[in-house]
Amino acid sequence: MLTPSPDCSFCPRLASFRDEQRVKFPDWFNAPVPSFGPLDAAVLIVGLAPGLRGANRTGRPFTGDFAGDLLYQTLLGVGLATGEYKADPDDGLALVNCRITNAVRCLPPQNKPFGAEINACRPFLVEELTGRDSLRVVVTLGRISHDSVIRALGEKLSHHPFGHGAMHQIGGLTVADSYHCSRYNTQTRVLTEPMFRQVFEQILSLLDE
Ligand code: URA
Repeated sequence: MLTPSPDCSFCPRLASFRDEQRVKFPDWFNAPVPSFGPLDAAVLIVGLAPGLRGANRTGRPFTGDFAGDLLYQTLLGVGLATGEYKADPDDGLALVNCRITNAVRCLPPQNKPFGAEINACRPFLVEELTGRDSLRVVVTLGRISHDSVIRALGEKLSHHPFGHGAMHQIGGLTVADSYHCSRYNTQTRVLTEPMFRQVFEQILSLLDE
């Protein structure tokens, strides 16, 4: 499987930012964050990029990030995860029929990857999306994730505009959009817990059909 090397140099800005974090925080993960969850999952959740003190520190997507509190609580609530989420990759939490990845695997300064970085990281996303017989639904968290997934599937953004709660049929896949579960979106109530949970309930009812 195509995965970025720990010293991936596809994005010079992100590689030098990573080097800075390795000096500042030598005990942290500080590398492209691998996907989490079984390879034969029906659901793939695509986030934006690791957060500094979250996934970049712990090495598991959304783990230790503010956004992870809502994401993992929601997955546990709808049965897409089991165990307990303790913001620690050793907490024993397991994903059920679900996998999590990011559009960009390395930590971007200010959580804002450049377009060229999103494009450079896309081959790893393509790898997550293709050749997976079990994959039925891709949940995109936020517009950047949505746009990168649509491009990775070889489709035009104009045919598939992002919208919270929107579902896009692409071949045998459903791409389901949600606002990102970031601190900003939840604190401003752009995204509430019920809104987020509803996205997952909708995709689970699709899987039951
Ligand atoms: N942590 C991640 O791994 N991805 C996000 O999109 C946000 C936080």
